[in-house]
Amino acid sequence: MKAVAVIPNRSNSVHLVEIDKPGVNDILDGRGVLVEVISVGACGTDREINNGEYGIAPQGSDVLVLGHENFGRVVEVGRNVTEFRPGNYVVGTVRRPSGTSIYDKIGEQDFTTDNTYYERGISRLNGYMTEYYSEHADFLVQVPAPFAEIGVLLEPLSIVEKGLKQASDIQERLKIWKPKTAAVLGTGSVGLLAVMALRMRGFTVHAFGRDAREGYLNAELCEAIKATYDSTAEMPIEHGAKMYGQFDLIFECTGFSPIIFDAMQSLNENGILILASVTGGDRKTNEVPSDRINKMFVLGNRAMVGTVNAGREHFEMGVKDLALCEAMYPGWLGRMLTHKINGLENFAEAFEILNNSAKYKAIKSYIEVKKA
Ligand code: BGC
Repeated sequence: MKAVAVIPNRSNSVHLVEIDKPGVNDILDGRGVLVEVISVGACGTDREINNGEYGIAPQGSDVLVLGHENFGRVVEVGRNVTEFRPGNYVVGTVRRPSGTSIYDKIGEQDFTTDNTYYERGISRLNGYMTEYYSEHADFLVQVPAPFAEIGVLLEPLSIVEKGLKQASDIQERLKIWKPKTAAVLGTGSVGLLAVMALRMRGFTVHAFGRDAREGYLNAELCEAIKATYDSTAEMPIEHGAKMYGQFDLIFECTGFSPIIFDAMQSLNENGILILASVTGGDRKTNEVPSDRINKMFVLGNRAMVGTVNAGREHFEMGVKDLALCEAMYPGWLGRMLTHKINGLENFAEAFEILNNSAKYKAIKSYIEVKKA
């Protein structure tokens, strides 16, 4: 069967490969599930892996099959699988326990402290940019059939859900925390999903992006669910904090690390800043007003947390937000799926769009491997 793979650390090595079709019995305890892939999203992580910035092939292999944003249909289940049936729609989680850290051992591998970690399509495990995969039932999350067309958004949404769960867990330190306003920095696909998830929780949401508002679909989508959108060219985040008031929660997903210092100064007392960008470069920034930031954090009991990956509970929270958003704003999530690529063999289109997303005005591009 076909798969889209890279040679890790070699720039622009993405190509089509033939691999063996997996079987339900590849998983030895009878808890295997064979899934046919319906769609696979393409994101910045795939672009960076294809740029040779990171990505590790499975042991003994020269190539890594890409793809971690996935959506598929169950074809066959092992003898001990009771929770799925053929025909069910599922999304596979990304990280697998690697065995040594305590977090891996208790099924919380998204909090692993191991440097050697295992992620499908990213690190040491083949991904979902292929026709079939087999997986242990424990790592699959069911998506109800009415959401089949938008199911490919669940994995990026799980990243947002984990961030928001970290924030609410941390804020339990306050006997009462009634956050009202949130800022989302960056309005790519993760940013838009953060705007959505915060709106579903009743926040007043202010989104900030680089692009001018006029004619920008991402801005239109923010406003369609009653969030504001401002271009940072006209309104840097600190100005936003003056205009709208300091934010109780800030979700950072721009990929531009210097902005975090501006965000730190835009946070309300007792507020929390969530950092979710994986910044692979080595950018440095000067002139950080460190006394001011430190004093604000100390005197205002402010908090900041980094978050990566997601566990099963975050995927399950994501399913609920997909459902709520579809009920409140039918069709909104579908509008995020701006570019569909037909078939794995046309993978090059996905990378052309990823490398030139401004030119294509792309929010989420994805490969449709099979019809839902
Ligand atoms: C994926 C996460 C992963 C992270 C770091 C993101 O693109 O969505 O699941 O943990 O990259 O590899």
